[in-house]
Amino acid sequence: MPATPLPDPTSAPAPEVAPIVIEAGGRRYAVHTATAALACCGVESAAAMHLSGEAAGAQPVDGHVLVVSGTVTTRMAPVVERMYAALPEPRHVLSFGVCSNAGGPYWDAYSVLPGVGALIPVDVYVPGCPPRPEALLDGLRQLAEQVAGAAGGSGAGA
Ligand code: SF4
Repeated sequence: MPATPLPDPTSAPAPEVAPIVIEAGGRRYAVHTATAALACCGVESAAAMHLSGEAAGAQPVDGHVLVVSGTVTTRMAPVVERMYAALPEPRHVLSFGVCSNAGGPYWDAYSVLPGVGALIPVDVYVPGCPPRPEALLDGLRQLAEQVAGAAGGSGAGA
């Protein structure tokens, strides 16, 4: 039986994402996920998002965050790039887990990037394999502190 060809991620449109709004550090972020097919960390970040946030709808937010969680392969890299390009401004990237941070256990595989930072700018790196779901909130608080610091304000609250 002939193999069924897989869809080509290098030419497919960026996947539609339904962002979740999460409040952290005194800011409200629309959190978009790039977990599609990337790997196990996606389960943890998805759990964190759905425990911590609410559907975005048309609510005003302070920024948009792309959460990249899991192994970024060369095959999926164009999808992650397109998701980043489609993110509204102001936009940020949070890398969730050692695979996304630096390749993780697969760092020397021919098909794995040495971290999503090789592809798009990353604002916050969350360590762990996998990080606990709560670590996503901590990462968003870090991001809020960075943004407040860059603006010269003290907008980062609890
Ligand atoms: S960091 Fe660990 S848990 Fe996360 S995707 Fe990689 S191997 Fe899986």
